[in-house]
Amino acid sequence: MNTIATHLTEIQQRIESACRSALRASNSVTLLAVSKTFGVEAIAEAYAAGQRTFGENYIQEAVEKIQTFRTQSTFSGFTDLEWHCIGPIQSNKTRLVAEHFDWVHTIDRLKIAQRLSEQRPADLPPLQVCIQVNVDGGITKSGVAPEDALALAQAVAQLHNLRLRGVMCIPEPAPDFVAACAVFTRARAVFDALNAHHSDWKIPNLDTLSMGMSADLEAAIASGSTMVRVGSAIFGQRNTAGSR
Ligand SMILES: *Cc1c(COP(=O)(O)O)cnc(C)c1O
Repeated sequence: MNTIATHLTEIQQRIESACRSALRASNSVTLLAVSKTFGVEAIAEAYAAGQRTFGENYIQEAVEKIQTFRTQSTFSGFTDLEWHCIGPIQSNKTRLVAEHFDWVHTIDRLKIAQRLSEQRPADLPPLQVCIQVNVDGGITKSGVAPEDALALAQAVAQLHNLRLRGVMCIPEPAPDFVAACAVFTRARAVFDALNAHHSDWKIPNLDTLSMGMSADLEAAIASGSTMVRVGSAIFGQRNTAGSR
């Protein structure tokens, strides 16, 4: 087995073990392979090992890879990759995102959501989206405050070409498991609160809680994550500035 396949097996084992500890079914957590800064060959290796869902942060870089898989004959068998945008989106990039991605995890402004809905091509299914919540309070960080999540969710639920699926967060690395759980639990609380009265609030029942990365996926799963976003533990260390 190559390294990426070995790493994927290790991550699946970590997910299964974390699910067992939390008395959860192992298929209740989806693995999103975060391939930012890595090339199409690395993604193809993960694909060959059975991985289908990939996360990307940098829009231009991602679109080039997505196009490569869609157009190059070498990759003609790679028809069922699912692309998740997990990076911040500027207004001038919404069209590229609407045209190329299947999911967006980082909705934290209605204006961006409206543009994505308007620009989603009619022949594609709705863009699946999560509301990004800022659970550790940094004022310069992305994400809505927990108390603003409901209003944004209600507005997003009205947009025809988006389908609201859940909540995501990117907390700062915590010093230990207990501290990580305390922060992830705040995102879980937002997710549960939205679901508790979703029909009164005219939002769909949410099924996705996107949280946990290479270093803290166990804490995220213990706190209810349904989708972990794992990069370096699969593809290796990134050496590009700006990634985290
Ligand atoms: C880079 C990134 C990840 C993956 O981080 P690793 O520590 O490499 O697993 C997950 N989520 C987001 C939003 C990221 O930017």
